[in-house]
Amino acid sequence: MRTSRREILLLFFVMFYGTLTVTCIPQTENKQKEKTDTLMADSAQNKNEKAEELAKDLKRKGIRDERVLAAIAKIPREQFVDKSLIEYAYLDRPLPIEEGQTISQPYTVAFQTELLQLKPGEKVLEIGTGSGYQAAVLCEMGAEVYSIERYEELYLTAKETLHRLGYHPHLFFGDGYEGLPEEAPFDKILITAAPEVIPEKLKEQLSIGGRMVLPLGGRHGQKMTVVRRTGEDRYSQTTHGDFIFVPMQKGTE
Ligand code: SAH
Repeated sequence: MRTSRREILLLFFVMFYGTLTVTCIPQTENKQKEKTDTLMADSAQNKNEKAEELAKDLKRKGIRDERVLAAIAKIPREQFVDKSLIEYAYLDRPLPIEEGQTISQPYTVAFQTELLQLKPGEKVLEIGTGSGYQAAVLCEMGAEVYSIERYEELYLTAKETLHRLGYHPHLFFGDGYEGLPEEAPFDKILITAAPEVIPEKLKEQLSIGGRMVLPLGGRHGQKMTVVRRTGEDRYSQTTHGDFIFVPMQKGTE
């Protein structure tokens, strides 16, 4: 049952979706140890080559931030998708994960991360851990990462994947609309699901001078939006093109 649903989703994504704490330190040794557990037939070298090719593709498509590209060139994306989708892991496509959610298209991950203007050591809150891939990118870039997911199953799977690969962001199962008031303020906030209005509590958890990147809008499409907090009660807003994300939903499941 699950497999056939996934296959239908896969067909949809691949054929019709063409256009569209502690600082987390990767522990290479652990990565090596766990390689035997992967279901990839390819050698580790091939995997890195595929990630490097993906990064080059994103550069051709306009991503300029070399630190974003370097992170993408290193991360084994196939570890964040179901084993039945491994052969599609390095295509610049979104792919389905459990609970009807998606791992974002690599271009979108890179574009959002570039807009964050992330510096090493900054404190970042991600809303929508999903597969954990975006969190791995933020970790690779030397950020102190906090990430919230509303589906318990996704939270648990992402935690397992990230730890296996040696990434240790602070992961939370909860409703991202609440943010993490006890950990605020954050230098950067990245929302990877689409809210219809900018979540007020998240605005309040941004440091002055901080920036939030989010796809803003309803089910029919969103504008990539950057919100900058310029003062205690002052915010500025810019938009950066059209995207399609899964909706940001209230509560937990
Ligand atoms: N960053 C993810 C993208 C996952 S898609 C990745 O790299 O794979 C967006 C995710 O946001 C989904 O997993 C969805 O369950 C989650 N989400 C939606 N609304 C949320 C909320 N209110 N709080 C936390 N997570 C939420």
